[in-house]
Amino acid sequence: MEIIRIPRIMQDIARTHAMHNKTIGFVPTMGALHAGHLSLVRMAREENEITVVSIYVNPKQFSPFEDLSRYPRDTEGDAEKLTGEGIDILFLPADSLMYPDGFSTRVEVVGLSKKLCGAYRHDHFSGVATVVAKLFNLIQPAKAYFGQKDFQQTVIIKRMAKDLNMGTDIAVCPTIREEDGLAMSSRNLYLTKEERGAAPVLYTCLNEASKAIKSGIIKVKELKKLMETRLASEPLVSEIQYCSAYDPETLDELEEIDNEALLAIALKIGKTRLIDNILVAAGLKSSSP
Ligand code: AMP
Repeated sequence: MEIIRIPRIMQDIARTHAMHNKTIGFVPTMGALHAGHLSLVRMAREENEITVVSIYVNPKQFSPFEDLSRYPRDTEGDAEKLTGEGIDILFLPADSLMYPDGFSTRVEVVGLSKKLCGAYRHDHFSGVATVVAKLFNLIQPAKAYFGQKDFQQTVIIKRMAKDLNMGTDIAVCPTIREEDGLAMSSRNLYLTKEERGAAPVLYTCLNEASKAIKSGIIKVKELKKLMETRLASEPLVSEIQYCSAYDPETLDELEEIDNEALLAIALKIGKTRLIDNILVAAGLKSSSP
């Protein structure tokens, strides 16, 4: 595995692979790698000749009140895991090279960026779109791999790649979970033991809502009430930001479930913000990525 730290060199290598008609599969991450990240890496390896993984804790997607400085970092451990996966290139750029003095561009996917998590994390998705656009330009992947856990992010990146003719296919991969159902996340490391015990409530609530839909509850008002009651029954839930059923393409809240729906939750347990989602279809089995 080659470690590349300089964006221009990364781009030169990508161009050389393109000249030799080698397809690049790309997995962007912020590091502190867990089995969820590694599942994306394996899929990229299976489907492409060259696999590139980036680790970059992108300051533009954190607000001043968020956890940029304490975000978990373990570059050495991550590099070891990625070597074990047999990837070709680990891209590890420094802030000063990604955003040099004078950097002034922002990519915003208008509308979608302000819904769901965007209502609580104001510049988050334009920070994500900006860095992913830069990474796509540097790495020129045929296909890039994202987790369904961050469902809104996948909708926004797909829109951006299509709108800007980036020529990169976007793969959305299933959410990998702990044994008790909690979606794996680098931020789970912030949870105290007690909070960790309470955290599976998101997935339990999503599954209960999915069962309710199968039993015939299709009015979202009713479903939302069920979900809120379930979440509020967990004393360590300190804030429910959203929980309901949404259109998986527009991310607008639905009134009734008559087709495929995204059930999604964002809440805080103590001070830690957690998100999760599943896709369901009225009368069909839920897919729980
Ligand atoms: P992050 O390092 O949190 O920015 O995540 C990098 C990529 O890994 C994103 O596409 C995430 O959606 C994906 N990811 C994070 N957690 C999981 C998980 N539990 N299962 C599958 N993919 C995940």
